[in-house]
Amino acid sequence: MNILVCNVGSTSLKYQLIAMEGETVLAKGKMERVGTDRAEYSHEDARGNRIREELPLRDHGQGIERMLRALIGPVVPSLDSVDCVGFKVVLAKDITGVQELTEEVVAAMEAMNGIAPAHNPPYIAAIRQFRRIVPSVPLVGSFETGFHRNLPPKAYLYSIPKEYARRGVRRYGYHGASHEYLAGRAAELTGRRDLKLVTCHLGGSGSLAAVDSGVSIDTTLGFSLQCGIMHNNRCGDIDPYLPIYLQETEGLSLGEVKTLLTKKSGLLGLSGVSNDLRDIEQAADAGNPDAREAVEAYAYYIRKQIGAYAAALGGLDAVAFGGGIGENSARIRELSLEGLGFLGVDLDRERNRTARCDAEISSASSRVKVFIVATNEEIVVARKAKEFLEARKRRG
Ligand code: ADP
Repeated sequence: MNILVCNVGSTSLKYQLIAMEGETVLAKGKMERVGTDRAEYSHEDARGNRIREELPLRDHGQGIERMLRALIGPVVPSLDSVDCVGFKVVLAKDITGVQELTEEVVAAMEAMNGIAPAHNPPYIAAIRQFRRIVPSVPLVGSFETGFHRNLPPKAYLYSIPKEYARRGVRRYGYHGASHEYLAGRAAELTGRRDLKLVTCHLGGSGSLAAVDSGVSIDTTLGFSLQCGIMHNNRCGDIDPYLPIYLQETEGLSLGEVKTLLTKKSGLLGLSGVSNDLRDIEQAADAGNPDAREAVEAYAYYIRKQIGAYAAALGGLDAVAFGGGIGENSARIRELSLEGLGFLGVDLDRERNRTARCDAEISSASSRVKVFIVATNEEIVVARKAKEFLEARKRRG
């Protein structure tokens, strides 16, 4: 069974074609700056063929057509060899888990565009374009909220009148594919399924999850993707009265507040340097005090959250770091774990600086095991799509 996994961003399209027997990646590629005359495309396949080109891509539809030209012929003989397209979709009204992306499901996604404006609309457009271009191939979505579907009410309820929870205003949580992958690897690396684990997905957008024996019981992203730890340019948790103050007292319009909190805040807003942690760490090393404080504040939030989740879990056996920052920034990992000796965390600083994925970076005597894991959201989506199709086939 061959599954094509698509990761759709507002201006990007990434994909992997995976042969599920052996989980071999037959080809993978990415397009950036989709929507411009100078999109960048890179692709490689298991036979060593590579494409690097700049091309005009008006929309994701043109990107999909370009991708199919790279796949059909050089990688697989025809579209008949693609059994399914899997999507790491974000959020839909009253729907989660793994779903065939029918028009009804897509409409439920559309109903939530207001809270995932950067994420849902490009997926919806791409799904409809796929349906037009490859109508015979099943499209299966794995929702990012799915891994957090078992949060107990005490974790998902907001302290606002309950009627809003009944209308769907509650914590959902995101980055489900990554948290699930990190939790799976931590279980494999420790040889234990009954772990009390904190998974830290730290990328441009980041979140932590408290995972008890493989089940997410709490997570830092909520109703929207605007809360929790600070993100590259989004604020994360702030005093909910701030947007009101900014409008009533500082005279900002609602639109300006939205832009401030969703595009100009987070690591970018605090550092005044960049939304990329590499630039901020460099500026901090060069003595920029705002950059230093941004790095410290980012890690401090993570440290507090690990402590809170140890309390929520009633103990802590392991911490797993993944995502661009979690995998690559030894400094963020070290600062995030500083002072957690009382919980049984003892980082091996040398291993932390030199280790690569998937590695243990806690000392041999550390009671809590700490891992760096190269997250693989695509394989999670592909496995779920495979299970979904097989279950459907069994049901006839
Ligand atoms: P996305 O969430 O957009 O998929 P990634 O998971 O690729 O993003 O993470 C992007 C972040 O990872 C950026 O802030 C980038 O600075 C950070 N990052 C990547 N490599 C390094 C590194 N070597 N050191 C520090 N930060 C890094």
